[in-house]
Amino acid sequence: SKVPVPVNEPVKSYAPGSPERASLQARLKELSASKIDMPLVIAGKDVRTGRLGQATMPHRHKHVLGDFHQGGATEVRSAIDAALRAQKDWAALPWEARASVFLKAADLLAGPYRDTLNAATMLGQSKTCHQAEIDSACELIDFFRFNVAFYEQLLREQPQSSPGMWNRLEHRPLEGFVFAVSPFNFTSIAGNLPTAPALCGNTVVWKPASTAVYSAHFLMQLFREAGLPDGVINLVSGSGGDVGDPVLNDPHLAGIHFTGSTKVFHQMWRTVGGNIDKYRGYPRLVGETGGKDFVIAHASADPVALATALIRGAFEYQGQKCSAASRAYIPSNLWPTVRDALAAQVEGIRMGDVADFSNFMGAVIDGASFRTQKAAIDEAKSASDAEILVGGTCDDREGWFVRPTVIVTKNPAYRTLCEELFGPVLTVHVYDEAKWLETLDLVDSTSPYALTGAVFAQDRYAIEQGLQRLRNAAGNFYINDKPTGAVVGQQPFGGARASGTNDKAGSILNLLRWISPRSIKETF
Ligand code: GLU
Repeated sequence: SKVPVPVNEPVKSYAPGSPERASLQARLKELSASKIDMPLVIAGKDVRTGRLGQATMPHRHKHVLGDFHQGGATEVRSAIDAALRAQKDWAALPWEARASVFLKAADLLAGPYRDTLNAATMLGQSKTCHQAEIDSACELIDFFRFNVAFYEQLLREQPQSSPGMWNRLEHRPLEGFVFAVSPFNFTSIAGNLPTAPALCGNTVVWKPASTAVYSAHFLMQLFREAGLPDGVINLVSGSGGDVGDPVLNDPHLAGIHFTGSTKVFHQMWRTVGGNIDKYRGYPRLVGETGGKDFVIAHASADPVALATALIRGAFEYQGQKCSAASRAYIPSNLWPTVRDALAAQVEGIRMGDVADFSNFMGAVIDGASFRTQKAAIDEAKSASDAEILVGGTCDDREGWFVRPTVIVTKNPAYRTLCEELFGPVLTVHVYDEAKWLETLDLVDSTSPYALTGAVFAQDRYAIEQGLQRLRNAAGNFYINDKPTGAVVGQQPFGGARASGTNDKAGSILNLLRWISPRSIKETF
């Protein structure tokens, strides 16, 4: 193999008094004190439309980090033209030249850009230092390096030949451009969605979430400094409709690389279906969407490990990971121990400004999410079939703060046990331990999603029953561990059913979607 075998980027601890903590704190101060202007980037040029959106800190929502320019049909037109113009030269480069750009991006991010991306993710998306480090630093570095190794592996895939005949596969990029639509919750995903197709020779129009344009702006600087040629990735911020509609109407749309809500992915899929006669080919639709991720414990589970997994799985990054534990099924024999552990530990969780490194949680992303969480919590307070074990308070005076909340319900169809909230709310259903198998079936049928899930048990038969009965209930399945924190190259990530197309981010399976191989047969 030509490329170095990648190893996962080590996670820095930012311990008190460490030089890395001092350096990150200095960058946080600098960025907090300045207000930046964030243009679109089309064909390598900054484009300012003057239609401005504001980037604010979720945990101090009156603090403006900068203004971002928003595009519409005109800018989408120039971005698509730029992508199509750049495509031939980019695809014609030796693959090593494309790989170099992303390997350099990885090195820049591991070095001089690390503080900037971590600070931007902390300030703009309200991640704690550790949550930013495992996302905008480690996971994104891993995406860059592992994708290069996977791409090389993919290129080596060749058919059989025999004397008198030479068969070969040419791994062409798709014909047209790829539309990357990235979410607010992971800077690493925002970095991966446009770059994975680009590595394979595609060119891209990239629309980041409006709540994460701040870190996207710095990502774009990183790509440019790594040597990404003009027009290969074109950044067009703006509303989903203003940017998405003209993109999906273009005959050259060759693929969509999406992470976001199930609802938006459905809308895009429908629009693509309606436009199918217009396109030159069948656009590849790759989406990672919602989740209602479960933790189910068997009577044999270790209740202490279970409580820790529930707290980390449900409340790290305010429950805003697609993979977050949001429903738990606990057998009645374990419940008293788990209940007491949850009540005591969740009560003690420190929440506040993420620049204070002793906080375990920041704020939810925006006012809309705050209101969604608050409505569900208020509903539980007055419901006859649910009660709040711990948490249940919300305060939006300074920032969008929702206390980590545990709702307990006897009703297996209770709303927050089935619907995705995308916030720090865990709903627990306590079941009769004799009904283990029925409860596994309940977990499978309760929600339309199938992203992540975890089974906790010491009994080997129970573990196996969980694996079998929940075979289609999660694309990432954990045994005696929390359902979050997939690592590139170790647990390829993605789910099926209403959770997406399961094209495993950061794996060869994902890269396969961005190529259109040509079989060549030559006879002698
Ligand atoms: N890969 C992340 C994890 O396992 C989740 C990604 C997402 O939220 O989309 O925690």
